[in-house]
Amino acid sequence: MIPYLVLAAALLGLGLILLAYLGRSARGLGSGETVALDDVSLFSSRLKLAGRPDRIIRQGDVLIPEEWKSAKRVTRGHELQLGVYCLLIEEKYGVRPPFGMVVLGNGSRVEVKNTDALRAEVLETAEKIRRHRARLEAEIPVRQPAEKCRRCGQRGNCRQAAG
Ligand code: SF4
Repeated sequence: MIPYLVLAAALLGLGLILLAYLGRSARGLGSGETVALDDVSLFSSRLKLAGRPDRIIRQGDVLIPEEWKSAKRVTRGHELQLGVYCLLIEEKYGVRPPFGMVVLGNGSRVEVKNTDALRAEVLETAEKIRRHRARLEAEIPVRQPAEKCRRCGQRGNCRQAAG
């Protein structure tokens, strides 16, 4: 009788493992140990980048960033976001992730290769955004007649008032 009980327990255990696996797959959760679940903010002062992946998983010696999206397909923006995370993970942990993972709304998992081209595009895009922001913060030069500035309600706040 005891061997049957052992066999039944083993089968039940296998069944539970299979159910757990199927449940994870349906939700888009792949294999790998979860080391962060939207609770690790990454920052690099050298690269001037910051980010917070939805999930980071360990697969062997590497850490893989994962981003969950409600979208139906992967966009270039998603790829760049994963590229940022790959750079930040490499900076913090010293090992370059070979890829990142986008989990789409239907639970499918799409691998985004961490190529040299993606890294270069991420850094170039970040630099463009920084240059654009610097321009936004700069004042637009204006030249108004002194008479107009003297009557202007914003004169007290304006550094370009004439007269
Ligand atoms: S005070 Fe400044 S905001 Fe007002 S009219 Fe002159 S330049 Fe323009």
